Amino acid sequence: MAAAVTLAAKGMPVTVFESGPVPGGRARRVTTDGRELDNGQHILIGAYTELLRLMQLVGVPSSALLRMPLDLRYADGFRLRGALDLLFSGRIPFREQVDAVRFFISLKAKSFKLPEDISVSALLEQHRQNGVLGHYVWRPLCVSALNTPPEQASAQVFATVLRDSIAGPSGASDFLLPRVDLSRLFPEPASEFVAKHGGEVRTNSPVRELAALQKEFGAVIVAVGPHQLKALLPDLAPAYEYQPIYTCYLQYPESVQLGGPMLGFSEGLVQWAFDRAALTGERGLIACVISAQGDHQQMTQEDIAATCHAELKAAIRELPEPQWSRVIAEKRATVACVPKIKNLQFRTNHKSLFLAGDYLDADYPPTLEAAVRSGILAANRITETH
Ligand SMILES: Cc1cc2nc3c(=O)[nH]c(=O)nc-3n(C[C@H](O)[C@H](O)[C@H](O)COP(=O)(O)OP(=O)(O)OC[C@H]3O[C@@H](n4cnc5c(N)ncnc54)[C@H](O)[C@@H]3O)c2cc1C
Repeated sequence: MAAAVTLAAKGMPVTVFESGPVPGGRARRVTTDGRELDNGQHILIGAYTELLRLMQLVGVPSSALLRMPLDLRYADGFRLRGALDLLFSGRIPFREQVDAVRFFISLKAKSFKLPEDISVSALLEQHRQNGVLGHYVWRPLCVSALNTPPEQASAQVFATVLRDSIAGPSGASDFLLPRVDLSRLFPEPASEFVAKHGGEVRTNSPVRELAALQKEFGAVIVAVGPHQLKALLPDLAPAYEYQPIYTCYLQYPESVQLGGPMLGFSEGLVQWAFDRAALTGERGLIACVISAQGDHQQMTQEDIAATCHAELKAAIRELPEPQWSRVIAEKRATVACVPKIKNLQFRTNHKSLFLAGDYLDADYPPTLEAAVRSGILAANRITETH
């Protein structure tokens, strides 16, 4: 949709073929058991400059996002409000604070480019960041941003995330939490923008082969997920490894609250819980997020929901049983963000065929922003050459 909007804004007639009933792909609204839910709780950060720019371009009001400064608040009482809290939090031993400053100075001195890509846990070990900060800040940040366990995740991509968020310009590390469903957040307003500019978005329209499209249209951007690439471009698709993201929705009576839009859990299954009342107005609905691989992949959905409830119950006094629960398991949520991942280019051997998607960016983890940037890149290349 980022590619389509970029082309439409430049007056190019564009047709989008989307196999699903709603646009949005891995960040979309789903209807399940008669209820509308997001396929997974998403979080944006202030550093998502291109996505935020396109949202503005297609007319999404700023009220669609709840912006809040970096605030890591945990159920066990640990809290880190803003990057400066690294230095002032009484919960972080002085030795670690000194090491954290050295860690940042060392990354900054190298312009956040590591001499060799290693795992995030090896990087944290090197800089003695595996204590309280590792537990509450670096490791959770790695899992949330790279969706890959620190033992496997790319330290280089992690360093880039730190550069653009915590060490970025003012507001870059702000959290932006959607206040509307994910399809309304960008893909649907983007579709309306494309239609207004003479283009068309065809939902329920899977593309089965590219040759006919290449004949019919001047240029084609293949913006499918990495696991869907093989069906269209079998020769091109490398064998990626994937990481899951599970979201467990628990509906409680309307009076149940988390005491803030999000709450961290540092032990157990749940990593972050989101209070949908504070975001979308869905009172009593809590979304528990479990990113990356883990033992939960062997559990039944009922067991996952029961475990999430038990962990919430330990944090929220007198929490009643949920009225209903729903686990949405995205088994291939993103490619694993590991060192030396073989990145495809957005250009292919055909001069009118381009790729776009979150898996294409060599610097960024597979996120909404990476997907948007690659779409803009492919669209710009088309307008330059056609
Ligand atoms: C549960 C979950 C939570 C996440 N949380 C975050 C988060 O908090 N922050 C963040 O930044 N990122 C998050 N991500 C990652 C983010 O959702 C993805 O990086 C992003 O949506 C990828 O966009 P994309 O356009 O590259 O691919 P996709 O979203 O996969 O889009 C590909 C589209 O192509 C369509 N398609 C496939 N094959 C065909 C075909 N043959 N014909 C027509 N259409 C086809 C699909 O239906 C789909 O709509 C999360 C992902 C998941 C699954």
